[in-house]
Amino acid sequence: MNIKENLKKIKREIPANVKLVAVSKTKPVELIKEAYDAGHKIFGENKAQELSAKYPQLPKDIEWHFIGHLQTNKVKYIAPFVAMIHSVDSFKLLREINKQASKHNRSIDCLLEFHIAEESTKFGLNIEEAEEILLHPDIKTLSNIRICGVMGMATYTDDTQQIHREFAHLHEIFDHLKKKFFSGEPSFKEISMGMSGDYKVAIKEGSTIVRIGSKIFGARD
Ligand SMILES: *Cc1c(COP(=O)(O)O)cnc(C)c1O
Repeated sequence: MNIKENLKKIKREIPANVKLVAVSKTKPVELIKEAYDAGHKIFGENKAQELSAKYPQLPKDIEWHFIGHLQTNKVKYIAPFVAMIHSVDSFKLLREINKQASKHNRSIDCLLEFHIAEESTKFGLNIEEAEEILLHPDIKTLSNIRICGVMGMATYTDDTQQIHREFAHLHEIFDHLKKKFFSGEPSFKEISMGMSGDYKVAIKEGSTIVRIGSKIFGARD
C-alpha cells in the first residue's frame, strides 16, 4: 500500500473543483503524516475522541473534517479546531456546535446529513426534518456556524444504477434547499458524497466533496 501513489491516482481521477477528504479513521498518525508529507492536508475522522487524540500529534495546518455520527456531549472535544462537520442531524446538535465554537471565537462549517440509502440502517434526515431545523425560530441567532450544504451515504451495493439514483436524490435535496433557504448565500454550495467504492458515480452526480479512506490508506480491520 503506497499512500503517496494512491493519492496521486485518485487526484488524477477527480476534477479540480472536487475536494478530497482523506478518511483516516482507525489509521495511526504515522500514516496520516505520510499522506501529509505527500502534500495532502485535508483529513476526515468519524470519532470525536479519536480525532482529538490525533490532532495534537499532527501539523496544525491540517484541515480536519468530522464525518461520523456526533453526540452533543462530544462536540467540545473537536470544536477548538475542526473545520467542517458533515453529520448534522438535529437542531440541538447545531446549537451545541455553535455554543462550543463561540467559546473558541471560531466559526464551524456544517453540512446537513441526509438519509438517501434505500436500506434503512444509515443515519440522516429527511427533507421534512431538515426544513424543521432550517425553520427553527432560533436558527438565525447561531452566528458561529455556517450551513454549507448536504452530505449523504449511498447503499453499499454493486447495483450502480441504485447508487446513481441515491446520489441524484441528494443533489435534488441540495437544489431544493438552496432555492428555498439559501439562494442568497454563496457559501451553501457543498454536496458531500462518494467513498472509495462509489466516488466516480458521486462525481457524475455532482459531488463537490468526496470522502475516501480505504483507497488511500488500505482496508480497515
Ligand atoms: C469510513 C467513511 C468513509 C470512507 O470510507 P471508505 O470506503 O474507506 O472510503 C466515508 N464517509 C464516512 C461517513 C465514513 O464513515
